[in-house]
Amino acid sequence: MLIKDTAICIRAVDFSETSQIVTFFARAAGKISAIAKGSKRPKSAFDGPIEIFSYGKIVFSDSNKEKLATLTEFESAYGGAGFTSLSNNLSALNSCLFAAELLNNLTHDHDPHPQLFDDFLQFLQNAQEGNKKTEMLALLILFQLSLLKEVGLRPVLNACANCKTKYEGRKTRDEIYFSSSANGLVCRDCEASFPDKLRLTKRAANCLANLKLIAESQEKTLIEIETVLVHHFTELLGRKPKMAKYVLNLSP
Ligand SMILES: [Zn+2]
Repeated sequence: MLIKDTAICIRAVDFSETSQIVTFFARAAGKISAIAKGSKRPKSAFDGPIEIFSYGKIVFSDSNKEKLATLTEFESAYGGAGFTSLSNNLSALNSCLFAAELLNNLTHDHDPHPQLFDDFLQFLQNAQEGNKKTEMLALLILFQLSLLKEVGLRPVLNACANCKTKYEGRKTRDEIYFSSSANGLVCRDCEASFPDKLRLTKRAANCLANLKLIAESQEKTLIEIETVLVHHFTELLGRKPKMAKYVLNLSP
């Protein structure tokens, strides 16, 4: 059966002299790995090799979900331009590669997440337009939080994840922590039970409790939040994401 979908390439590796294995995040079908036979030939059904962040319409045959699908067509949106200009901006490119790595690792094959697809597409579009490092960090943090939400791992950020005391109304001297094992913020009364916790500055805690503040935050605060998120993704995946070090090196 041939299936049509709208998709973004999140991984592309050479399979042979002429073919590639590509992973697409498709809007209706979810994550799909497929062989693109002949995609590296000068004339193919794919307008040349498929690159990461290629975006457009795909057609694939998928008779057996245990095996690789076969990509039969790829038609790029935007007249073939896609998100190729990302490669002109290293901080944007690294942030997008990091987002794609996390998306690939936190979603399952054939598990549709249309909202996450839309969020990822918007993230790539914003990344292509934005150029300041602080903007990129803010965009990345917001995408990472929407990724966690969409895959069912939304962290508790408006209250202590353990005792449920609301974050709002806390006295300024209160210490706030983030714990990966608690999946969210942890208050001073509870932090002793969570050895993996990281202490947050007041600014970072305020941003996490009120995500609207992220867009106007200073780079220092964003780096602190991203460091906490990298720690959290490392705990979730059982290893440090490969792209993490490139993104945290964004700071001067
Ligand atoms: Zn608590």
